[in-house]
Amino acid sequence: MAKITKKIKTIKVDADKCNGCRTCEIVCSAHHSTPRYSTVNPAASRIHVITRRLRDIWLPVFAGEYTPAECNGRDKYVIDGKEYDECAFCRAACPSRDLFKDPDSGLPLKCDMCEGEDMPLCVEWCLNDVLIYEEREEEVDEEVLLDEMETGLEALMEKFGRDKVESTLNRMSRNG
Ligand code: SF4
Ligand code: SF4
Repeated sequence: MAKITKKIKTIKVDADKCNGCRTCEIVCSAHHSTPRYSTVNPAASRIHVITRRLRDIWLPVFAGEYTPAECNGRDKYVIDGKEYDECAFCRAACPSRDLFKDPDSGLPLKCDMCEGEDMPLCVEWCLNDVLIYEEREEEVDEEVLLDEMETGLEALMEKFGRDKVESTLNRMSRNG
């Protein structure tokens, strides 16, 4: 399998600086609405800020991978005397919760690092410098990228059925 160069994008989260303003959720949902910037809906954001004022918790979490099955057990953390909710740090679009699913279609949402933009929008608009963007390059097997594509297709097939996905792909390729 051929080696290819993959760009690794990282957003460092300095959670101690977060004040729970949720500007990141607003700008993310606006950027990903269709047409772009037509609506704002934090429920459709690919970043979620856990906000527990009474426990002094403000924690941005980014939408990660889709999973068709929940874990056999759940974790619950206490850090520096602060008790976090079950699965608080998990990034998955998981059947156990509504988080990171499109509120209309139910399809999984995943942070795409604002593909095509110079800088992720949430990073640009977080005025408290909580989110810091970094980039580096790594050599990976081509197979790794193919696996990522398959995971996305599997999620669509589970939601709509194999026939529907295949007929949609055929129609799209006919339309160029
Ligand atoms: S924009 Fe920054 S400070 Fe505001 S909630 Fe998001 S991460 Fe926290
Ligand atoms: S990087 Fe872009 S897609 Fe990801 S959470 Fe931030 S604004 Fe949303």
